[in-house]
Amino acid sequence: MLRNPSQKYASNIQSLIQQNVSLADKNWFATGGSAKFFCQPQTNQQFQEALIFANKQNLPLFILGNGANILISDEGFDGLVIRPHLKELSIEPFDENHRVVTAGAGVQLDDLIEFCLTSGLSGLEEFSGIPGTVGGAVYINLHYFEFLLEQFLISAQVIEKDTGTIKKVDPQWLDFGYNQSTLLKEAHFLLSATFKLKKINENQVAFARGRKKEIIRHRAARYPQKGTCGSFFRNFHEHEVTIESNGKKMIYVAYYLDKIGVKGALQIGDAIVSHQHANMIVNRGNATTNDIIQVARTMQKLVKDQFGILPQPECRLIGFKEYPLSQ
Ligand SMILES: Cc1cc2nc3c(=O)[nH]c(=O)nc-3n(C[C@H](O)[C@H](O)[C@H](O)COP(=O)(O)OP(=O)(O)OC[C@H]3O[C@@H](n4cnc5c(N)ncnc54)[C@H](O)[C@@H]3O)c2cc1C
Repeated sequence: MLRNPSQKYASNIQSLIQQNVSLADKNWFATGGSAKFFCQPQTNQQFQEALIFANKQNLPLFILGNGANILISDEGFDGLVIRPHLKELSIEPFDENHRVVTAGAGVQLDDLIEFCLTSGLSGLEEFSGIPGTVGGAVYINLHYFEFLLEQFLISAQVIEKDTGTIKKVDPQWLDFGYNQSTLLKEAHFLLSATFKLKKINENQVAFARGRKKEIIRHRAARYPQKGTCGSFFRNFHEHEVTIESNGKKMIYVAYYLDKIGVKGALQIGDAIVSHQHANMIVNRGNATTNDIIQVARTMQKLVKDQFGILPQPECRLIGFKEYPLSQ
């Protein structure tokens, strides 16, 4: 139970919580059922109140960002979905060559990148064109080629699920790795993150903006832009694979998926493996979550049968009564 659940909260909570709210329009696959309860706290205190509400009623909790890395069950989510509407964006001095930027968990990555470039700060433009919020990005330690979000993050503010306690944490506490952070344990949720970024001059800003455009153009040519969660499966860990190429363990799941020939070919209902990328499943318009699950299971089976290894999802599976993929 949360500490000090006062009467004051009970009145606020009424206006904060909505019932039976559709989630299909709140995730990039555009599939899935409704949330039993839904709220969008605009302050840390409202976030605490929402946790109290869920804890008092023993409701399962899910924290939603931009829905760019999730697949929601067709039955929906039988608990409280919290979508933090925490939109703080602030800047402070650090040293001669750097500034620190603090962004609320609900800030869209695109808005954060634009804020930084407008403020003459570089680094985060490497993540241009990736959909999501700051909360979702810290959760998974956002990555693009050699860049990881952890390279820029210097501290964060989190709220504890069971107590509502808010604390400041450092990168060690967050225990980042590839697709990995302490937030995956779901005992704490992100309220805000603080990034240390390099000060740049006008010419360098123009260059960084060019880089942003180039990354977005490159991504549009390589990846589907809607109806998908991006990479469905995570890359393998070195110890999971035996196949090598040029003396290096072949960890990329797309390598195996390319070889089994599913790209643009494997389709169930309105869900299809993208013709642009073998590790991306796309809703062509009317897919259900179950269609997407069937495609993913078939991809798992084909890779397992041919290479003896089982791809595991990077995409978070939400609201399923039973784990829907092969294990
Ligand atoms: C077209 C496309 C391309 C993509 N390309 C990339 C890429 O290049 N690199 C990459 O790393 N990812 C990529 N992704 C995946 C996605 O963009 C990232 O995972 C992003 O961080 C998801 O953020 P979100 O806000 O949408 O999170 P959601 O999808 O809403 O949630 C994802 C997870 O984060 C958790 N979460 C969200 N907010 C919080 C919070 N405040 N506190 C704690 N947990 C939270 C959720 O509970 C959930 O478990 C891509 C996705 C798409 C659709």
